[in-house]
Amino acid sequence: MAFGGRTGGAAVDVVVVGGGVIGCAVARKAALGGLSVVVVERGRPGAEASSAAAGMLSPLAEANEPGAFLDLLLRARAEYPDFVDALRSETGADVAYSGAGTLYVALREEDEAELEERLHWQSAAGLGVERLTADEARALEPALSPHVRWALRFAGDHQVDNRRLALALWSAAARAGAEFRLGCDVASVLREGDRVAGVELAGGERIAAEAVVLAGGCWAGRLSGLPRPLPVEPVMGQLVSVETLPPTFRHVVDSPRCYLVPRADGRLIVGATAERVGYRRAVTPAGVMRLLAGALEIAPSLADAPLAETWSGLRPGTPDGLPILGRDPDLSNLLYATGHFRNGILLAPITGEIVGALLLGEDAAVDLAPFAIDRF
Ligand SMILES: Cc1cc2nc3c(=O)[nH]c(=O)nc-3n(C[C@H](O)[C@H](O)[C@H](O)COP(=O)(O)OP(=O)(O)OC[C@H]3O[C@@H](n4cnc5c(N)ncnc54)[C@H](O)[C@@H]3O)c2cc1C
Repeated sequence: MAFGGRTGGAAVDVVVVGGGVIGCAVARKAALGGLSVVVVERGRPGAEASSAAAGMLSPLAEANEPGAFLDLLLRARAEYPDFVDALRSETGADVAYSGAGTLYVALREEDEAELEERLHWQSAAGLGVERLTADEARALEPALSPHVRWALRFAGDHQVDNRRLALALWSAAARAGAEFRLGCDVASVLREGDRVAGVELAGGERIAAEAVVLAGGCWAGRLSGLPRPLPVEPVMGQLVSVETLPPTFRHVVDSPRCYLVPRADGRLIVGATAERVGYRRAVTPAGVMRLLAGALEIAPSLADAPLAETWSGLRPGTPDGLPILGRDPDLSNLLYATGHFRNGILLAPITGEIVGALLLGEDAAVDLAPFAIDRF
């Protein structure tokens, strides 16, 4: 066991606070490695940001420069196929992993500078980005507006159905032996000298543990007993879906104003706003109007598609947009797995591997310095 002997007969090896895709991925890895794991979730696992997301696995549309963050996203994307296979064999679940790539389109003159900049640094970094003329883009996706000026193609991008992913990760963690305490709110982290000793629930119950993992998404910093501020804040995203059968697009279509993600069942997800409005998550007329205007600018033929659903979710944002991963520098058995902002679906498997490895006493396969809590 990675954290020395148990402090009392009843201590579990690991308590994971939060049962989103990140908490479940960590719990799965730790439980598969033979640790006793309790996941404490105040609602239903995966029901928050992890279900709200659009499911894109798109490093080149997300990173703004070469570096450690882009490397992490690319590595996460490269490891996804093996993860999906493992999840299928553990649970039988199909998470609809698929990908024709992403088209990033310029529709207005002012969009072009952003695309030029991406093309420039991504080509220099040898990332395989392609520049398409308007005709070439429309040959791939005939529903694109005649106003498309040109496009970038990120051929290696994929997507998953993140709602199925969240359920599959919950199931995989439970099958591996993790215990889920649902409807329980963790109020504080318990400390004993220079270590954490477990957590206390809102009703006063204590769970003793050899290690605690903070995986509470945008709520991760709202516990008492933390050794330092955990700067994770909610960034609300609204989304809309329309029904398009036969599907309008094969690619994910991204633009500076909104993105369109085609699902195999005919739903086309239009996302997403980015609003810093605290923990509020109302779907608003202004938000929906902005998304639909963006969608119709990309594909005017969507004007007659039936509206299917509107929803919203809270991304766990950090000051620099990078996740917070690894051990606390002072309390080495307190681990962070949070702040995944816009990329937690892509990063869930690799986060499970990284934090799971630390719990098992192994080295993380990635240099965690750029993602450490003490960078703030
Ligand atoms: C609109 C939108 C679009 C997105 N699109 C994409 C995308 O296309 N691709 C991508 O990779 N990512 C995307 N994301 C980001 C991704 O969804 C998140 O980064 C990811 O889901 C974060 O997972 P999580 O497990 O950390 O958080 P969550 O899914 O929010 O889970 C945290 C869980 O912790 C629980 N919890 C918190 N505190 C406590 C406590 N004290 N006690 C008990 N339980 C607690 C909560 O109830 C919750 O269930 C998107 C997000 C949004 C909102």
